[in-house]
Amino acid sequence: MSAEQGMCVSNHKASSAEQRRNEQRLRKLVVGENTRCADCLLPLEFRNAWASINLGCYMCIQCSGVHRSLGTHLSKVRAVAADDWNDDWVDNMERWGNERAAAFWEARPPRHRPVQAFGDSATRGLRDYIRAKYDHRTFAAAGEPGDWLLNSTMANGWSRHFDEASSSFYYSDGAQTVWDVPPAALPAPPEPTHWWAGYEGWLEKKSGGKAGKSKWRMSEKWSKRWFIMPPDSSRMRYYKNESEATNGKAELGELDCEGATVFLKTVGKGGVHRFTVRTAGRDLKLRGAKSDFDSWIAALRPFVKSFEEDLEEDSVRARGETMDSQCPDFDDDDSDG
Ligand SMILES: [Zn+2]
Repeated sequence: MSAEQGMCVSNHKASSAEQRRNEQRLRKLVVGENTRCADCLLPLEFRNAWASINLGCYMCIQCSGVHRSLGTHLSKVRAVAADDWNDDWVDNMERWGNERAAAFWEARPPRHRPVQAFGDSATRGLRDYIRAKYDHRTFAAAGEPGDWLLNSTMANGWSRHFDEASSSFYYSDGAQTVWDVPPAALPAPPEPTHWWAGYEGWLEKKSGGKAGKSKWRMSEKWSKRWFIMPPDSSRMRYYKNESEATNGKAELGELDCEGATVFLKTVGKGGVHRFTVRTAGRDLKLRGAKSDFDSWIAALRPFVKSFEEDLEEDSVRARGETMDSQCPDFDDDDSDG
């Protein structure tokens, strides 16, 4: 295998006859699994699809931008309809396609997929995922994609082989050879793989009051805490400061963000960003700097059921921060306040 990822593809410039022929071939290829983005699953059509000519998969324009940022040693991106395609590139798209590319690159499938959405945090989620997938090979089958395509060991003594002439797989157990994958050859489905990057940093949280009338007063106080969203967990933990977190001190509190609703809000001229994480048992009101905000939202995105705009009216702004009309009183039992 060369230093390049996926399959080696030539650089020869297609003649005009070759271009015309290949446009027709590509039109026939952009069907079925190839009509949704290999990474974010957004629906694709021939006219708006992009493709990685070495990886052999089809993708949307936003994911193609992330592929391009990986570098051409990992992914070589072309527009399906607008670029001039030579025979070798189309041969490789025929050899692979999204279904086979997913079988290799997502052999151990991701536990959460990035959501195709616009905005910085969504882009960061896609970027983390695409980098995990093609650069770190977090979900990939063992070995190199070219070797995997040609020959692959399956369960119960079966192996899978590639027939170049028909661009099809066939299966053999030494005694018999068949075109359709035998059920006995399929391995048990693998455990889904964690992949998201997580994040840690300072955030201010609203301290909850204990009960009764003191609740209002106490709820107006923000306390600065070191928050950690580990890369392998949906539980957000917070500490008094960074050194207590790294020295293994017990956390002051934690919140499982799986299935949470997050309310987003920007306040103040300085661009203070606030978000409230609402779970079944608790609301946690947080604020942080713009520079950290997108990273927090990206770290939360895999678990969160929905993001909603925080529509709180700022009529009592003169007093400073106000209670959030959408979010009920805090039920925060941390002893640290
Ligand atoms: Zn996409």
